[in-house]
Amino acid sequence: MNTTCIMCPMGCALTIEEKEGVLTVVGNGCPRGDKYGRAEYSHPERVVTTLLKGSRGGVVSVKTDRPIPKDKIGDLLAWAAAYRVDHAVETGEVIAENAADTGANILATSDFKG
Ligand code: SF4
Repeated sequence: MNTTCIMCPMGCALTIEEKEGVLTVVGNGCPRGDKYGRAEYSHPERVVTTLLKGSRGGVVSVKTDRPIPKDKIGDLLAWAAAYRVDHAVETGEVIAENAADTGANILATSDFKG
């Protein structure tokens, strides 16, 4: 498997291989890339950022408070598309808990007047 380390702007090209149960990561410029490559191979996760619509118009930018499995991102975005924020929120406020059963809470990353 080939991927790019996203842990810093260097963007090292990683090659991750599993042979006889042993995982190897090559191409990383530092130990963070090794850790990232192993996680990406076995359980890839991402922090998700998106926009939620207000019930009376406008949008609020949000993100998950933790990385979620990549195969849950579609569920989360479908949840976000249907969700409406019906009150004012401040940056950093939790808008929803355990969104789309991902285990992640949704945090506002901008103020919203509601
Ligand atoms: S392996 Fe290290 S140097 Fe390379 S992109 Fe990842 S964090 Fe940056």
